[in-house]
Amino acid sequence: MTKRPHPPLRPLWLCRRCGASWPCGSARLTLLREYAHDQVALIIYLGGLLYEATEQLHALNPREMPDAGQLFDRFLGWHRSRTSGPYPPANLTNGGGCRAEHVVNEVRSE
Ligand SMILES: [Zn+2]
Repeated sequence: MTKRPHPPLRPLWLCRRCGASWPCGSARLTLLREYAHDQVALIIYLGGLLYEATEQLHALNPREMPDAGQLFDRFLGWHRSRTSGPYPPANLTNGGGCRAEHVVNEVRSE
């Protein structure tokens, strides 16, 4: 993996280079280039970072952290708006041809 030019400054989750909320525009472009052939891996990676950021921002200042929807849009929503069709992508399956959101719904109903 190459060194990214706009990395996050943890635990503030600001760009180390430009100071914008991470992922900044340059970081998003870098991620899209890096994961151009594996969008599912990018979604999984961003989901992990969303989890990490939520935990760290809450630990820093629970009263002033962005709400869950804002954090979702910041880490995953920008990618979602770039894709057309269903979300998550249809190729995100559990190996049996079932889309991941169906698996999540099944787990929730148990
Ligand atoms: Zn930046």
